[in-house]
Amino acid sequence: MSQKLQGKVAVVTGASKGIGAAIALHLAKEGASVVVNYSSSKDGADRVVAAIVDNGGKALAVKANVAKFEDVQHLFAETKKAFGKVDVLVNNAGIYEFAPLEAINPEHFHKQFDLNVLGLLLTTQEAVKLFPAEGGSIVNLSSVVATTPVPNASVYSATKGAVDALTRSLAAELGPRHIRVNAINPGMVETEGTHTAGITESDFRKQIEQQTPLGRIGQPRDIATATVFLASSDAGWVTGQTLLVAGGYR
Ligand code: NDP
Repeated sequence: MSQKLQGKVAVVTGASKGIGAAIALHLAKEGASVVVNYSSSKDGADRVVAAIVDNGGKALAVKANVAKFEDVQHLFAETKKAFGKVDVLVNNAGIYEFAPLEAINPEHFHKQFDLNVLGLLLTTQEAVKLFPAEGGSIVNLSSVVATTPVPNASVYSATKGAVDALTRSLAAELGPRHIRVNAINPGMVETEGTHTAGITESDFRKQIEQQTPLGRIGQPRDIATATVFLASSDAGWVTGQTLLVAGGYR
C-alpha cells in the first residue's frame, strides 16, 4: 500500500508523550522522517524514536524548549543537518493550567502564552526557511476551548483562541508559498498531561462525556489520524481551517 508521506520530513513539537507522540508515530507510519522534539522527557522521546526505527522508519530526538528562541534555532539546525528540509510542522507542544480569575498572575499568563502562542510563532518562523519551493503543511494543535471556553481556564482558552487566529492569518500569508496552515481543535483527550492534571479521573470528564454525541473522550490516535490527513496531499486544497476533533462536542 502506498504511503501518504513518503520522502517527507516532519517536525513534531512536544512528541515525547501524549498527542504529540501518537502524531509522530502515525506520520512515520505514512513514510515521513520525523524529528521528535521534547523539553525534558528524554526517555519518552527515545522510546518514540525507537518505535519508529524498529518499524523501518527514520527519526531523531531533539531537546528544545520551543518557548525559547535559541532552542528553536537549535531544533531546526539539527533538523537541517539530519534531513536537509522540512515538509510538515506539527505545533503540538502546549501546556494547560487552570486558575480562577483571582489566582491569575503574570507567571500563569506568560508560561502559557510563551509556549502555546509565542513558541508556535518561533517554530513556524524557523520551519518556513526550510520548506521546499513546492511548499508543505503546518498543523497547529488548538482546542475546543478556543470557541467553547470553560470556567477557570481563561488564560489557556485565550492561548487557543490566539492559535485559531494565527492559523488563519498565517494561512493567508503563506498560501502564496504553497504552505498550508490548519488547526486541529481536540476535545478532551486521555494523555499523560490530562492524567497528571487529574482531568481524566474527574467529574468534569463525566460531564464532557454526557455532552459528547459520540459518548467518550478522545484517545491520542483520534487526533493523530486527523493530523495525517491535514499533513498529506489529501488535504491539498485545505488551508486556514480549524477542524474540531471532539466526538461532536462543541
Ligand atoms: P502532554 O502534557 O501529555 O504532553 C505535552 C508534550 O509537550 C510533552 O511531550 C512535553 O515534553 C512537551 N512540552 C512541554 N513543554 C514544552 C516546551 N516548552 N518545549 C517543547 N516541548 C514541550 O500534552 P497533551 O498531549 O495532552 O497535549 C498536547 C497538545 O494538545 C497541547 O497543545 C494541548 O494544549 C492540546 N490539547 C490537548 C487536549 C487534551 O485533552 N489532552 C485537548 C485539546 C488540546 P516533555 O515531557 O519533554 O516536557
